[in-house]
Amino acid sequence: MKLITSVSELQILQKELCGSIGLVATMGCLHEGHAALVKESIAANKITILSIFVNPTQFNNANDLKNYPKPIDEDLKIARKLGVDIVFMPQPEELYPNKYHFKITATDPLTTYCEGVSRPGHYEGVLSIIMKLLNLIRPKKAYFGEKDFQQYTLIKRMAQSFFIDTEIVLCATIREPSGLALSSRNARLNTEQKERAVFFAKTIQGNLTIEKMKHQLKTHDIQIDYIELHDNRLYAAVIIDDIRLIDTFTIKTT
Ligand code: AMP
Repeated sequence: MKLITSVSELQILQKELCGSIGLVATMGCLHEGHAALVKESIAANKITILSIFVNPTQFNNANDLKNYPKPIDEDLKIARKLGVDIVFMPQPEELYPNKYHFKITATDPLTTYCEGVSRPGHYEGVLSIIMKLLNLIRPKKAYFGEKDFQQYTLIKRMAQSFFIDTEIVLCATIREPSGLALSSRNARLNTEQKERAVFFAKTIQGNLTIEKMKHQLKTHDIQIDYIELHDNRLYAAVIIDDIRLIDTFTIKTT
């Protein structure tokens, strides 16, 4: 496994690589959700590049960015074990040579609800960093998780709009047996907070009205950011003390 931290080194290598490249873009603190994306990429491409970059521009909350877990050595171990070919782990100055003076803005209807409204500037940051990675790495396929379904859809539409020659692939959400979606932020939950997180997952996956879900979560000291239904899909974001968790899934209609 090769570790690359500079853009220029990546650009040189990109030109030398032949065969299909699969990209898995992450913010690190790797878990089985990320691993599922990596496994899909390895199965379908000659070379898999895993980027690990806690992208500052997509955080609208300075504390959230500061507290984001960064277990670098552990991540590298996991990447090596999974069989990743190249880990790209740059510093922010590498990816933002012009600071943040150029960015991708989306006015797609998807940006008008849930994460698009709740986290101002979030999708500008996400789309800008993904555009940079797609341009640098030029992957044949790039893999994204359903847990961030709005993000996946926006990236897919952005790639289509800018004629980016990369297939944007959706991978199913990986959950704990309890139903809780795996997330890097789960690493910050203590035992009691974890119980509330599991309660959150079970409540939104139970067959309840949104009103009832909200009531139950509030009585368990879980702060609700939003729970909304759009196009047969439930989107939920909650805050447990200062840890923000999101989830989404399609609603089965009989
Ligand atoms: P992150 O490191 O949280 O930015 O996530 C990197 C990629 O992994 C994104 O495409 C996420 O949607 C995806 N991902 C995160 N958690 C999961 C999960 N539990 N199952 C599947 N994909 C996930």
